Amino acid sequence: MLTPIQDAPAGEKLSRILAWADEQVATITKDIDRGIVRKLPYSPFAQLFHALMYPRFSRTVNDADRKFSVTPACTSCGTCAEVCPAANIDLVDDRPVWKHRCELCCACIHLCPVKAIEAGPATAKREHYRNPAVSVAELKLRTKK
Ligand code: SF4
Ligand code: SF4
Repeated sequence: MLTPIQDAPAGEKLSRILAWADEQVATITKDIDRGIVRKLPYSPFAQLFHALMYPRFSRTVNDADRKFSVTPACTSCGTCAEVCPAANIDLVDDRPVWKHRCELCCACIHLCPVKAIEAGPATAKREHYRNPAVSVAELKLRTKK
């Protein structure tokens, strides 16, 4: 669902994904309650891909925000800073400034109410996403804990 590299799903496809995720969460919750340990259902290809890519990802992810920029559409509302789970954004002169400890969750991009944050020129054309079951207010509360 990363806006920088692909469109977020929408419509029927999104509904199917969210329903599948709810089923998975229910199953995992039951397993935890019963103390059941399962291996993740990764294919050998996925395991190889992970082994090759994850070290580089974890080395570079904190600097991913160097590609982020803000357009003149920004209204200085502060939502991006309030929803960032890494406390990685300050508003300086009423504009977001990233501090290079990014986790690349893309919450700032997806939740900006005026889509003013871009990670490259393609961002504006891509679908933005918020889980319909979770409000922006709830996400702001989560980061204040
Ligand atoms: S959420 Fe968007 S409009 Fe609000 S301060 Fe951040 S970039 Fe500006
Ligand atoms: S909200 Fe996510 S993508 Fe944006 S700066 Fe914070 S950690 Fe990085």
